[in-house]
Amino acid sequence: MSCGDPHDTECGEVLDHLYEFLDNEMAEGDCAKLRVHFEECSPCLEKYGLEQAIKALIKRSCGCDDTPVDLRTKVLARIDSIRAGQRAAQLSADESAGHGATATAAAES
Ligand SMILES: [Zn+2]
Ligand SMILES: [Zn+2]
Repeated sequence: MSCGDPHDTECGEVLDHLYEFLDNEMAEGDCAKLRVHFEECSPCLEKYGLEQAIKALIKRSCGCDDTPVDLRTKVLARIDSIRAGQRAAQLSADESAGHGATATAAAES
């Protein structure tokens, strides 16, 4: 689930925090980390089909307009389906590996 390039913030971690990011519930420092990731990792956004939406949302959140509800809802629904797919992939990986050693604590909560 990564584009292969090294990032300060993992692609999976970005996905974990996308909700908070879109809800403006993140600390400014974390927000900045995600923005940096979006700048340097468009492959992962493209893969998720989120590039356009995220870029639009970032633009909005920097201006004085409210985030368009439609767009936000669409993105959140997309994140849900991505995460559901990742969980399924992780489950089958766990089955073949025996134990979920790669599962993150964040995914468990
Ligand atoms: Zn990424
Ligand atoms: Zn990347």
